[in-house]
Amino acid sequence: MNSISVFYLLLWTGVSSFKFEDLAQYVSTHEEDFIETLRKWIAVESDSSDITKRSDLDRMMDMTAEKLRLIGGRVEMIDVGAQALPNGSTIALPKVVTAQFGSDPSKRTVCVYGHVDVQPAKKEDGWATDPYDLTEINGNLYGRGASDNKGPVLAWIHTVEVYKALNIELPVNVKFIIEGMEETGSNGLDEMIVAQKDTFFSDVDYIIISDCVWLSKRPAMTYGTRGNCYFFAEVEGPKKDLHSGVYGGTVIEPMTDLIGILDKLISPSGKILIPGIREAVAPLSDEEWKMYQDIEFDVESYKQEIGVDELMYSNKVDLLTHRWRYPTVSIHGIEGAFSSSGSKTVIPAKVIAKFSIRQVPNMDPAMVEKQVTEYLQSVFAKRKSPNKLNVTMIIGAKPWLADPTHPLFEAGKAAFKRVFDVEPDLIREGGTIPVARTFQDVTGKSIIMLPIGGFDDGLHSQNEKLSRHNYIEGTKLFIAYLHEVSQIKKY
Ligand SMILES: [Zn+2]
Repeated sequence: MNSISVFYLLLWTGVSSFKFEDLAQYVSTHEEDFIETLRKWIAVESDSSDITKRSDLDRMMDMTAEKLRLIGGRVEMIDVGAQALPNGSTIALPKVVTAQFGSDPSKRTVCVYGHVDVQPAKKEDGWATDPYDLTEINGNLYGRGASDNKGPVLAWIHTVEVYKALNIELPVNVKFIIEGMEETGSNGLDEMIVAQKDTFFSDVDYIIISDCVWLSKRPAMTYGTRGNCYFFAEVEGPKKDLHSGVYGGTVIEPMTDLIGILDKLISPSGKILIPGIREAVAPLSDEEWKMYQDIEFDVESYKQEIGVDELMYSNKVDLLTHRWRYPTVSIHGIEGAFSSSGSKTVIPAKVIAKFSIRQVPNMDPAMVEKQVTEYLQSVFAKRKSPNKLNVTMIIGAKPWLADPTHPLFEAGKAAFKRVFDVEPDLIREGGTIPVARTFQDVTGKSIIMLPIGGFDDGLHSQNEKLSRHNYIEGTKLFIAYLHEVSQIKKY
């Protein structure tokens, strides 16, 4: 066919249909451009935890909106209100960016969620390179936010850009919701999702989140995250701190009481001792056990990674299930306790323990709050201490769990097969991504987590990176995924 007839064919059909090889080829030839864009995004210190960086964060949201507009999206910047500061004043929250590409009712509609704020990072923290100057070393692109989550967000934007550039019709309608407060608790986002439930989300079929990483070198899809209930347990005794040489032996010490009750939360072998918690956990089915057996995970290198000789369990299934699908108690710290170097002989008058319990199906944070409070009060009562115990739950984030046999995951398998030529692992996440649960509860839509980050990307840590390979092949994966999702039958 000569170029003139190609021209007429295009005029006649408008846009051409899915041609994976052409799209993938375009990604390969534009690899350097895509890395350049990532470099520009990494250069913005969009640290949401530092209010002195709020103008950088606002600029990051503007850049995101601009990029989406440039490739033809219908973009909106949603005002989600203000953030209260400890000194009583307020500061405007970064706007949430939404975008829409296509609104064909005969097509599926996916909504990609991501965030462009980052964790704090300073060269002095131990970075080998400037965290805000994207630097490539041995095929890895180092920079704060490279993997969490600027790289994956750009890979999604480039996915749409590539379809547009080649004038190939998007197989599904694509929406974006990109926020700037994820690293500090997504302030304002829940309310925005609730407010837009019947507007922005009304025609969305599926929600895609690419804000996590693989478990090993083998690609993976994530179908669950744990929630978290975070507690303060405060024991208050004398009206002021005392000297142990002067008063020790006569006072019933708050710290001794606190350590005594903390010791009753979990046994040395990891058994949670709070009545009702273990009973609430969904039983492990045979099929589930089998799925865990199939996951690629090396116990020895896991030990090496964290620097221990022995773990709570010795086999893969026990380790992974206790990391992802069973609850656990972690004690984080004690406020008011003496913790500096040296040997101060203080008896602290008031101490506050901080501990949390990771949540899994079918635990309910409201129930957990009651169970923990009643249990600790009863354990404390047995001590017959005159001190006062006050237990409060300050965070109650629910877990999220999807059906890994849902067509969304089948579509993911097909896309991974096409681009990476492997069957991906089906994994869960031990941490909490509260927005997944919010999307599920508010919109009722099916959700998939489709990560492209590597297991060793070092999210939130020094020397965060995304490999060039994962960034580029990940973009091809998303291109293939949109096609696979368009093939899901409507029920
Ligand atoms: Zn993230």
